[in-house]
Amino acid sequence: MCTVCGCAEGEVQVEGHDHSGGKTHNHDHGHSHHGHEHDYGQGPAGAHAPGMSQSRMVQIEEDILGKNNQYAAANRRWFNERGILALNLVSSPGSGKTTLLTRTIEDLKAEMALSVIEGDQQTANDAERIRSTGVKALQINTGKGCHLDGHMVGHALETLQPESGSVLFIENVGNLVCPAAFDLGEAHKVAILSVTEGEDKPIKYPDMFHAADLVLLNKIDLLPHLQFDVEQCIEYARRVNPGIKVLKVSATSGEGMPLWYQWLRATQQMTAVGL
Ligand code: MG
Repeated sequence: MCTVCGCAEGEVQVEGHDHSGGKTHNHDHGHSHHGHEHDYGQGPAGAHAPGMSQSRMVQIEEDILGKNNQYAAANRRWFNERGILALNLVSSPGSGKTTLLTRTIEDLKAEMALSVIEGDQQTANDAERIRSTGVKALQINTGKGCHLDGHMVGHALETLQPESGSVLFIENVGNLVCPAAFDLGEAHKVAILSVTEGEDKPIKYPDMFHAADLVLLNKIDLLPHLQFDVEQCIEYARRVNPGIKVLKVSATSGEGMPLWYQWLRATQQMTAVGL
């Protein structure tokens, strides 16, 4: 359950884990990288229960985000100890995240070790698409939950075991709202925004564009057919986050992808040497 958005997290399925979700949490596995109890998600049922006071709801929300931050910090330590670059890919549904990821993997898998955690409410379709590239991938189904959290990712790491010095892509559930509030322990949030969406998304969803370090403006091959104002979109993104970097790419035509790869290589090299 998540008071940030009111979604339920009782149906979470982490592939490779017999995990009955936020309701029972009978953890009989080691959790070698988490030195604390798993009481995450056991808050009172029904955040929006009638009669619950505003201050009580704010308290629950703070507790949930506080616990998430602990799990995220444990994940971050785990990544740092291994020189793993973890990127949290966030976007609306349909921005082309999985296609962009598949192309990135095909183009870079020969030069760096890669793995993927896929978040979706239902189906393992995206993890299967990633696995077809030969790279290891693990699916998390969040059920009614609209975002991944630090706890789910911690479980996924135990099974996936990304190798030291590798790049781990975490493809979040398609949603520009709640994933902004849930740190997963990543080094950077990368927002994917496609030109088939509105150019004002950065100011409609400022928390996400404030939290992201990089925007991949995807599907630019379609620009001739659309009314999308690229410069206006970039101006909006900088308005909510002056330091944000924006790269124009097309995962289908390949245009602009080398700029993304350049960013990835430079960021991965800094991570591997502990910067
Ligand atoms: Mg996807």
